[in-house]
Amino acid sequence: MSKFAVLYSEKLKDYDLGHVLTQDRYENFLNLFHKTLGRHSGFTIVVPPHATHNELRLIHTQEYIQRIEKCESKDPLDTPLSPSFVRAAKLLAGAGKYAGELVCSGEYNKAFVVGGGVQHASIDQEKGFGVFSDVGICAQNLMAYYGVKKIMILDTDAHAGDGIYKIFAEDPRVFYMSLHQDPSTLYPGKGFMDEIGVGSGEGFSVNVPLPPDTGPEAYEYTLTELFTPLAEEFRPEIILMVDGSDPHFTDQITQMGLTIEGIRMVGEIASDTAHRICAGKLVDFIGSGYSPNQKIVSLGWLASMAGVTGIEVALEEPVPIPPRKGNRMQEAKAIVRSLQSKLSAYWPCFR
Ligand SMILES: [Zn+2]
Repeated sequence: MSKFAVLYSEKLKDYDLGHVLTQDRYENFLNLFHKTLGRHSGFTIVVPPHATHNELRLIHTQEYIQRIEKCESKDPLDTPLSPSFVRAAKLLAGAGKYAGELVCSGEYNKAFVVGGGVQHASIDQEKGFGVFSDVGICAQNLMAYYGVKKIMILDTDAHAGDGIYKIFAEDPRVFYMSLHQDPSTLYPGKGFMDEIGVGSGEGFSVNVPLPPDTGPEAYEYTLTELFTPLAEEFRPEIILMVDGSDPHFTDQITQMGLTIEGIRMVGEIASDTAHRICAGKLVDFIGSGYSPNQKIVSLGWLASMAGVTGIEVALEEPVPIPPRKGNRMQEAKAIVRSLQSKLSAYWPCFR
């Protein structure tokens, strides 16, 4: 039977910035999880360790870590720092690192980092609710100590992961692919089609800026036409996913128009791909979601887990799906075609 690790500790609740990112999201999710998927014997809650200084150094500079430990934030509006928050950020980084180890060692088939998926922080910059790159530390640790040579990161959070991109832009061992809302309409204003990596990493990053109100069909199309062929050609040894609930149509800071079923479908496509090319090895970082309806944030995280594990669970949409404005599918297809053409210089699957 497949084994799934859910990395969570009560101490993660201190990852609370007092604005849209609050600790009740953890409690709500855990309550829902225990009543649903948590009853399945394949799941185990695993309490993660805090990342050590040396583990943070896998990505971040010495000076940066010291500044963060002194709680001197250069992004005080989005990312205000306090000792308890910094400690929780180290725990999240430790969770990401440990999740990768649990899957790579074969102890678990898949792992979920609850509250994870730091997207905007880079080696020496805190940004957009994030301080230490849990995803980056996970990947770098596997390459440095577990003999992993190729990793693919699929990021379907509604925001472009500019920090993750920056960290791995020059590294051909890490293929970063992000589907997100057109950055000319949303924070962080980065993640355009021409951002495909730098130097020896050129061709190993793909940014897919989808129009607002894209909807599930365009996600499915983009994943099938871009992600799957690239993953099959790149052949990573593990897939890391960054997702969560912020592409949902009720989200108050994004407009991607994805449904709960759509979030499940994204997880399913990623997982099916992992099963075909890397023995199903996958770590899912689930942390986003800014819907005023807290039930939707939890349900989206659960939907992602259901998609990734293939375990059926009731995922009824809590509010009616609004009619779609216009036909975004045509725009999505044009973006995908344009990217396939650009990437054909690096990837024969598009020639
Ligand atoms: Zn986001």
